[in-house]
Amino acid sequence: MEVRVRYAPSPTGMQHIGGVRTALFNYLFARTNGGKFILRLEDTDRTRYAPEYEQNLFDTLEWMGIEWDEGPDKGGEYGPYIQSQRFELYKKHALELVKMGRAYYCFCDAERLERIRKIQTMNKMAPGYDRECRHLSEAEVRANLEKGLPHVIRLKVPLEGATLFHDALLGDIEWKNEDINPDPVLLKSDGFPTYHLANIVDDHYMKISHVMRAQEWIPSTPLHVIMYRAFGWEHPEYCHLPMVMGQDGQKLSKRHGATSVNEFRNNGYLPEALVNYIAMLGASYEDGRDIYSLKELESLFRLEKLNKAPAVFDYKKLEWFNGQYMRAMDDESLYRAALPFISKEGILPTEPSEREKAKLMEVMPLIRERLHFLTEAPEMVRFLFIEPAAPNPEDLIPKKLDQEGTKKILTLAAEELLPGLEGKTEEEGDVLVRETAEKLGVKLGDLMMPIRIAVTGSRVSPPLIGSIRILGTKEAIARINRAIAVL
Ligand code: GLU
Repeated sequence: MEVRVRYAPSPTGMQHIGGVRTALFNYLFARTNGGKFILRLEDTDRTRYAPEYEQNLFDTLEWMGIEWDEGPDKGGEYGPYIQSQRFELYKKHALELVKMGRAYYCFCDAERLERIRKIQTMNKMAPGYDRECRHLSEAEVRANLEKGLPHVIRLKVPLEGATLFHDALLGDIEWKNEDINPDPVLLKSDGFPTYHLANIVDDHYMKISHVMRAQEWIPSTPLHVIMYRAFGWEHPEYCHLPMVMGQDGQKLSKRHGATSVNEFRNNGYLPEALVNYIAMLGASYEDGRDIYSLKELESLFRLEKLNKAPAVFDYKKLEWFNGQYMRAMDDESLYRAALPFISKEGILPTEPSEREKAKLMEVMPLIRERLHFLTEAPEMVRFLFIEPAAPNPEDLIPKKLDQEGTKKILTLAAEELLPGLEGKTEEEGDVLVRETAEKLGVKLGDLMMPIRIAVTGSRVSPPLIGSIRILGTKEAIARINRAIAVL
C-alpha cells in the first residue's frame, strides 16, 4: 500500500508548535516510506477563517523546509485540496448517509438547542443533542422539507455497543457508543459540512493511508470510524501523537511562552534548530544523539520510535539547539541568516553593498560563539556601520578607576596600543594587551572596558582586538579620542 499522509490544518490561527509537529511527523513518515505528503486546507469554518492564517501556513512550512507533494498551490491527482472548493462532494455524501438510514434531518432551531443546553447544564448532564429528530417519521421529514424548514443533517450514532479501532501508538481503543457525541451535525443548515464529514470524505478520496494527528482528536475517531463503516470504506490507520506539554504538565500554551512558529522565527531561532527540536517532541531516533538535519530525519523516522508519554517542551533545550546550530554554521550561512535582523534594525540595507557585506562577513567568526539568537546580532555589529553616540563619562570609567586613570588608559590606547596592534596576530595582540595592562598596573578588564565602550559604544561586543581590526585602526583611534574629549 502506498503511504499517503496529510497535514490538514484549519486556517483559523497562526501555525503553532503542536501543529507543525504534526506536519513534520507526517512529512517524515512519508519520506521514510517513499510515500506522499499532502497538504489540505480544512477551511470549512468560515467565521474563524482569515487569509493571513492561510499565508502563515505556507510561509511557516516553507521556512521549516517541509515540502508537500500535493496541496492547494501544487495540485495533484486528488484535488482540489481546499475544502471550501469541495462542498458539493460533502453534501452528496451527507445525503447518501441519510438515504442509507445512517444519518437524519434535524429541524431543531437554535432556540431549542439552547434550551436543551441550559437544562443539561442545570442538571449537570453531559452536553449534547437529545436526538429529538432522530424519531421523526418519513412523512414528517418530507413535510418539513417541503415547507422549506431550515435543517441540518446529523449522524446516527449507534445507541448500543461499542466502536473499536486500533491506534498504531496506543493500541486498541474501545469507545462505548453511548459515550460518543450524540449525533453530531455533518451538514450545517447553510449547506456547509462540519469537520467530521469533510475530513473523512477527503481522507477517503485522497487515498490517505495513515492519519497521524494530535491526541485531542481521539474522541472524534470513533465517529469517523462509524462513518467509514456506514459508507463501506476502509478507514486509514490511526496514530495519535503524544501531547506536547509545558514544564508544569499542562498542555503547551501561551502561558508557557512563545508557541507560534512566527514568534520563534522573529525571536531569532534558526529553522534548522526548531525543526530538530520539534522532531524530538515525542519521538526518538538513534541512541545518545540529538542533533539531526531534516535530511537525516527523512530516513530515520519510525512509528515504533514514538513515545506514548507526553512530550515536554523545554525552552532552554531549544535555546541550546539554537546555539549548537549557530556554532555549526559557516560564515556565509550565518551572514544570510543574520542579515534580515540587522537590516530590520536599520543598520544595513536589505541588500548591502560589496564593502558592507565584506565587513559583515568578517565579523561572523567573532560573533558566532556569542550568539544565542539571531536577534542579538544587530547590537553586536552595529558599531561597524554606525558610529556610536559619544559615551557618558560614567560608563567609561571602570569602578576601580577614576577619571584620570581612565584618561591615561585611553590615551595610551590611542597612541601606543592600537597602532601597536596593527599587523599583529591574535596571540601577539593578546600579549601586547596584557603587557600594557601590567605596565599601567590595571586589571585586564579595566583596561579593555573603556576602550570597548569608546570604540563600540557597548559593554558587550565581539572580541575587542578583532573588532578593532575589522573597524579599522584609524576609525577606532578617532573614536577613542572622542571619548577622551568627554572626560
Ligand atoms: N482540521 C483539523 C485540525 O485543525 C484536522 C484534524 C485531523 O487531522 O483530522 O487540526
